[in-house]
Amino acid sequence: MKVTEHIANATKTLFSFEILPPVKGTSIQSIYNGIDPLMEFKPPFINVTYHREEYVFKERENGLLEKISIRKRPGTVGICSAIMHKYNVDAVPHIICGGFSREETENALMDLNFLGIDNVLVLRGDSIKTETQFRPHPDGHAYASDLLKQICDLNNGNYLDEDIANPVPTNFCAGVAGYPEKHSEAPNLEIDLKYLKMKVDMGAQYIITQMFFDNQKYFNFVKACREHGINVPIIPGIKPLTVKNQLRMLPNLFHIDIPNDLVQAIDSAPTPQAVRQVGIEWATQQCKELVQFGVPCLHFYTMSKSEATAAIAKEIF
Ligand code: FAD
Repeated sequence: MKVTEHIANATKTLFSFEILPPVKGTSIQSIYNGIDPLMEFKPPFINVTYHREEYVFKERENGLLEKISIRKRPGTVGICSAIMHKYNVDAVPHIICGGFSREETENALMDLNFLGIDNVLVLRGDSIKTETQFRPHPDGHAYASDLLKQICDLNNGNYLDEDIANPVPTNFCAGVAGYPEKHSEAPNLEIDLKYLKMKVDMGAQYIITQMFFDNQKYFNFVKACREHGINVPIIPGIKPLTVKNQLRMLPNLFHIDIPNDLVQAIDSAPTPQAVRQVGIEWATQQCKELVQFGVPCLHFYTMSKSEATAAIAKEIF
C-alpha cells in the first residue's frame, strides 16, 4: 500500500522509522534485531536508506594509486523485500541520483516494481568524500526532481526504450525530502522551497523532513510550504540524541541547529546514560507537541539502533 494511503486511512498519528543497511558482511538477523523492538508500535511502513559507493585508493605494485569504488552498505532492495515478507509492512526504499545512470535507475525501479514495492523516497544523495560538490553520473540525474521525472514517466508507461509495445505503467508513490532549516547548498529557504514546490508539482506525494530539534522550525516550514502552495503531507523527521559527540557531528553532517538548552543539558549530563535520557526526554517532548499540532506521522531516524526510539514511542503511541 502507498504511504499516502496509510496517511489517508489513519485515525491517529502514525509511527514510522528509517533503517540503514548494515555494513557489508552482516547478517539479515542484525536488521531484524533492530526492527523487532519497534514492531509493537505498528509502523505501516519502514524506510531503508540507500548508500552510494565511496572511492578508496589502493597502491599498485608500481607505486601508483588506483582508484576503486566500494559499496559499504549494499542491499537496500533485498532488505526492503525481506522486511515486507517478514513483518507484512510496506518498505520504502530510498532511491538516489548519485552514482547511477538513467538505465541503471530504470532497471532498479523495475526490480522494485516486480517485488511489489509501491513506494520510493526520491533523493539526490550526498556528495561522496572524494567530491567537493555533488557530481552526477554522466548519464544520470543532477537533482532529485530529474529522478522524480523519470519515475513519473514510468508511472505513465514511458520507459527509456521507446520501442516497447504496450508498456505497462508502474504505480510508485514518490516521497521527497524537505529541509526546515533549508538544504545546505540552497542560498536561502525561498529558493529551496521553489525547488521543493517543483518536485511536488511534478508528482511528489509527500515530504519527509530532515531532522530538527526545535519544533518551531518545523511549524514555520509547514506554514511557508502552505504559503507556497505545497499542500502534500509533511512528515517530521525525529532524531533522539544519544551520545555527546552528536552535538558536533549532527550539525556538521546535516547542517541543522541544536538549541542551546539541549546542548547545555547534554553537555552537563554526567554519564552516558544521563546523556541518553536527556535526548529521549527532549525528543519525547518534541513528539508530544507535534502530535498536538496534528502531524500525519512521526518518522524516526533510528540509524538502526532501536532503544531510544522505542523509549519515546512507548510514551507517545
Ligand atoms: P534536491 O532536491 O536535488 O536538492 C539539492 C539542492 O539543489 C538543494 O539545495 C535544492 O534547493 C537545489 N535544487 C533542487 N532542484 C534544483 C534544480 N532543478 N535546479 C537547481 N537547484 C536545484 N542521502 C543518501 O545518500 N541516501 C539516503 O538514503 C538518504 N535519505 C535521506 C532521507 C531524508 C528524509 C532526507 C531529508 C535526506 C536523505 N538523504 C539521503 C540526504 C540527501 O540525499 C541530501 O540531503 C542531498 O544533499 C539532497 O537531496 P535532495 O533529494 O533534497 O536533493
